[in-house]
Amino acid sequence: MKLDIVTIFPEYFAPLEISLLGKARRAGLLDVHVHDLRGWTHDRHRTVDDTPYGGGPGMVMKPEPWGEALDAIAPPGSAPRLVIPTPSGRPFTQALAGEYAAEPWLLFACGRYEGIDSRVAEEARARMPVDEVSLGDFVLAGGEVAVLVMVEAVGRLLPGVLGNADSVADDSFAPGAMESLLEGPVYTKPPVWRDRAVPDVLLSGHHGAIARWRRDEALRRTARHRPELLPRLASSVLDEHDRRV
Ligand code: SAM
Repeated sequence: MKLDIVTIFPEYFAPLEISLLGKARRAGLLDVHVHDLRGWTHDRHRTVDDTPYGGGPGMVMKPEPWGEALDAIAPPGSAPRLVIPTPSGRPFTQALAGEYAAEPWLLFACGRYEGIDSRVAEEARARMPVDEVSLGDFVLAGGEVAVLVMVEAVGRLLPGVLGNADSVADDSFAPGAMESLLEGPVYTKPPVWRDRAVPDVLLSGHHGAIARWRRDEALRRTARHRPELLPRLASSVLDEHDRRV
């Protein structure tokens, strides 16, 4: 998968060199290019922002450098999926991460200040798919951290990136049985630690009982932390036992 990232702070993306994603890059599974937006400015101060029309506090990112950056990275005839992080976008979810993982090429545009002049997304939409995407109901200082989050969520779904591909299927929010569910508690050795024992069922070796316990715990945890998710559980993935939990 090819990833292009445009930002005024390329150094924010140093973490993409390490851990899982660093390995994926070295293995040729992820081809990442980070671009400095200021490379598409033409004044002495390399200006990327200006005052907002209509007044108000803060600054807005100018359309010209963004237009030139998008033209250079995605020339006519090429069409990456453009992802613009913004608190006013559609929510980023595991389902959307899965969609992105199936794309051959993603282009991320990191906003700063009060965001990017709206005409940039409007104009780009005429020649490529554009998603405005929010990480949640809070406001970050810039799009860089949002893009790091999305790249990590997408990158770990790419075939060959995780050692054990099955672990993705058991994750919270994974499509299928875990959709709209939070994963329950997990344990490792030793079996007793500070007088706290691992639940007996996990030591039983009884795969059916373990699967049932995990599902019950997932349902309980979802009810406790995210009750609004429960009505979204498709009736096709609920059995009689689920309904009693
Ligand atoms: N004035 C904007 C608003 O209220 O919607 C907030 C701008 S924010 C200070 C600057 C940049 O941070 C945004 O353009 C976006 O790139 C990024 N950002 C902030 N919060 C975000 C969120 N929840 N999800 C995705 N990106 C976010």
